[in-house]
Amino acid sequence: MSGRILIVDDVATNRIVYRARLAAAFYEPVTASDGASCLAMAADLRPDLILLDLNLPDIPGHEVLRRLRAGARTRDIPVIVLTAASESDVRLAAFSAGADDVMVKPADDAMLLARVRNLLRARSGVDFSVEAGLEVGCTAHGFAEQATGFEPSAIVAVVAGQIDAARRLKHDLAGVLRDRLVALSRQQALAEATQLAPGGAGVPDVFIVQDDGSDAAGVLRLLSELKSHQATRHSAVCVLGRSGDGDDAATAFDLGADDVVGHDVSAAELALRTRSLLRRKRQGDRQRARIEDSLRLAMIDPLTGLYNRRFAGPQMATIAARAVESGTSFAVMVIDLDRFKLVNDRHGHAAGDQVLVEVSRRLTADLRASDLLARIGGEEFLVVLPDATMADARRVAERLCQAVEERPVRLNSGLALSVTVSIGVAVAGGDSCQPISVDQVVEAADLALLDSKGSGRNQVTFRLSAA
Ligand code: GH3
Ligand code: MG
Ligand code: MG
Repeated sequence: MSGRILIVDDVATNRIVYRARLAAAFYEPVTASDGASCLAMAADLRPDLILLDLNLPDIPGHEVLRRLRAGARTRDIPVIVLTAASESDVRLAAFSAGADDVMVKPADDAMLLARVRNLLRARSGVDFSVEAGLEVGCTAHGFAEQATGFEPSAIVAVVAGQIDAARRLKHDLAGVLRDRLVALSRQQALAEATQLAPGGAGVPDVFIVQDDGSDAAGVLRLLSELKSHQATRHSAVCVLGRSGDGDDAATAFDLGADDVVGHDVSAAELALRTRSLLRRKRQGDRQRARIEDSLRLAMIDPLTGLYNRRFAGPQMATIAARAVESGTSFAVMVIDLDRFKLVNDRHGHAAGDQVLVEVSRRLTADLRASDLLARIGGEEFLVVLPDATMADARRVAERLCQAVEERPVRLNSGLALSVTVSIGVAVAGGDSCQPISVDQVVEAADLALLDSKGSGRNQVTFRLSAA
């Protein structure tokens, strides 16, 4: 995270003051003096956060905000609106235009920096996927969906020290929030955090935690519990009741609160703030899902669900290193389907794919979870057996050959095809403490495979690896 912050203000002294404050906190400030340059720089430089003054000479601040939210390159950038006006309608308008927070100028230093830290933290770790979504063209896969369109209703948990107070707060919010509201005591909220299944139904998207001043430590404890448990760590938390500024609020932000508001906040503003929390939370959910997708794609072969070659390489190196450490041996097998081209030629590529899937299934079923199985080429698989002797490897390899041969593969068409595999095995490690070159072991297994092919296929051949 670079921490680049775009300061947008038409008054030069304001820009200088904010620039100095942010630079002192080791952020990288850049500045713009009007709406047009703000929009251009936001799209161009992709700052991590924007501090936006509403009073701009060319385009009204609310309009700038709306355009930032509508732009594909800028819609996910958090925006803190700074305004000289403290009227609630100005705040409400800024929130509805998409502000993440609205602060009255001059903003308290500690508070502003806590807010900046909080928004940047929420953003870190999700950044590269935004890049990926835009530049690698994930849009085509529906990854970069609009964040501003229809949002399904969410679960909002309203939490107070006692359940009666939570119910009163829920009642106040019922008129302004269309989401499913649940009232919880702090004790119940803690139980939710520890007992709900991560990612399961019923996990609140937002917790609004009331701090009535009687047990500030209890509120902060709940906040950090919610932020540390698997199920609730991605839920947004709004602390309600602390003075919306000063050290108390800064502490809550630093413990992970996503928003901190004073008890005098209007129900309408709280509703808009909750929507903005939801928007950010869902943005995070989508980005995490994208990261998981790309991580999975990076290591899994989509046809068979087996690991791919790229994943297998480093895993194999780890197994080899452990073997050297423990003085044990390990076996590497290269498995290749026999005369597979004929399957494609006679029955079509789709039939060939079904055979590959079924063979993968049989190999998986016949290996232990601690063995490594990967598809390393079209009709070629790699198996690594950690802590295995030549005799172990022989038994396993022959069993695998048999598992493929013993029953024909039944295709969707109803046709049953007899399929066989040839296997080359190399065993390495065991006696010396020399580092092992996994490439050499695989090469030895490849040569053994060639021997199996040359000797009539459907058989196992061994090489003692030179490595
Ligand atoms: P050998 O016994 O010597 O290994 O003969 P072979 O026909 O299996 O070997 P060859 O290397 O000549 O052909 C491999 C074939 O595997 C050719 C290719 O079309 C097919 N193949 C590779 N990847 C896939 C795949 O993902 N799906 C299907 N259906 N076929 C594939
Ligand atoms: Mg082959
Ligand atoms: Mg083959």
